[in-house]
Amino acid sequence: MKKLLLAFGLFATAAQAKSPADSVTIRKIYTEILGNSPSYEWLRQLTKGVGPRLSGSAGAQKAVDWSKQLMEKQGFDRVFLQEVMVPHWVRGAKEVAYIQNGKQKITVPIAALGGSIATAPKGVEAPVIEVKNFQELRDLGAEKVKGKIVFFNRPMDPTKLNTFEAYAGAVDQRGNGASEAGKLGAVGAIVRSVTTAMDDNPHTGGMRYATGVPLIPTAAISTNGAELLSKSLKENANLTFYFKQNCEMLPDVKSYNVVGEIKGSEKPEEIIVVGGHLDSWDLAEGAHDDGSGCVQSIEVLRTIKALGIKPKRTIRAVMFMNEENGLRGGVGYADYAKKNNEKHIAAVESDEGGFTPRGFGIVGTAEQRAKVMPWKPLLAPYGLHDIGAGPGGADIGPLAQFGTVLFGFKPDTQRYFDFHHTGIDRFEGVNKRELELGAASMTALVYLLDQYGL
Ligand SMILES: [Zn+2]
Repeated sequence: MKKLLLAFGLFATAAQAKSPADSVTIRKIYTEILGNSPSYEWLRQLTKGVGPRLSGSAGAQKAVDWSKQLMEKQGFDRVFLQEVMVPHWVRGAKEVAYIQNGKQKITVPIAALGGSIATAPKGVEAPVIEVKNFQELRDLGAEKVKGKIVFFNRPMDPTKLNTFEAYAGAVDQRGNGASEAGKLGAVGAIVRSVTTAMDDNPHTGGMRYATGVPLIPTAAISTNGAELLSKSLKENANLTFYFKQNCEMLPDVKSYNVVGEIKGSEKPEEIIVVGGHLDSWDLAEGAHDDGSGCVQSIEVLRTIKALGIKPKRTIRAVMFMNEENGLRGGVGYADYAKKNNEKHIAAVESDEGGFTPRGFGIVGTAEQRAKVMPWKPLLAPYGLHDIGAGPGGADIGPLAQFGTVLFGFKPDTQRYFDFHHTGIDRFEGVNKRELELGAASMTALVYLLDQYGL
């Protein structure tokens, strides 16, 4: 215990030694962003002006052009595109679904999952078998599943405080449900929307077919729809479910990551990345997911410039393409880094919504995390208390192979999954001040990373 106290004492001393100038700079960062940030207006342009921007769509190309022009206007040292080939999945005409319970036909909201095949043009109608997990499905066996629509109805665990943990505990149904059901001869898979909300918004999201399994169509059903279907099945196990969807996977399309850069003055070869993903789901304006992360990242560089900070290291804002249904941008970015022998010391990603900041998750060694701990007193006055081991981000994940330390920006995510991958992830759902506080916390972290390295 004494040793521990001593260790904390040392950390405190180290932090205090750094803190006078640093705390003044961090205060200036917050003053600049809370007083003058254009990031909320940028988010309006990206969500209302550009709109939905699923990989391969015209909207995605518009978002590339928009963010490139925006960063050029900021006068960053370099703005460039990195070419990546992305999947091009299209939803087609809006889906139709209903429960046929005896003579009663009840329409329910569904959304095809990204990557799914279409149903036959007339749709598919079949009896339903409800399961909570893959084991339960396997235990039923092909005999009971064949010819049916499998209904995966395990909710996100509401007792988990970390909503991302609850999400991780349920999302296998969306990602692999169709393959698991297809293997056993099912004709369709309907998945309860992965959200903590109870409403009528279906939440789409990525799925993929395992190799060698029969391909069956799959869609998300709203949580209210899932509750109704489950209740109806208890009353009448012989009811049928009908759905029709018109989606299609087209050939890959050329797209881009968009990168803005401020060159380092002392160690330009050491790169610090801050980023979000530019693509969104087709149903959404992509305000929380992840327009917020994009405009916050650009705001980090704008603020550094506006305050006349001359970073020692090179700071890059990266708008990654195709996080949602392929991660080709994140993988491609790491490939470029390898090819060009670039040295990325740290990468920060904001992809958990534009909500009130709480801290940062760190992916790195215990020694690297220990280097960050003395910065805690500098960040605590701004509500950043949750700093420690934790997830980084999907797009920056591939940089871990080079030993890059990853930081995941952590806002309050209790309401994030209300919006996630739905039509209500709109500009109106993001609060200006919360968005700016996020940008300021990311700028403060990037500033410290630049000052002290890792
Ligand atoms: Zn996202």
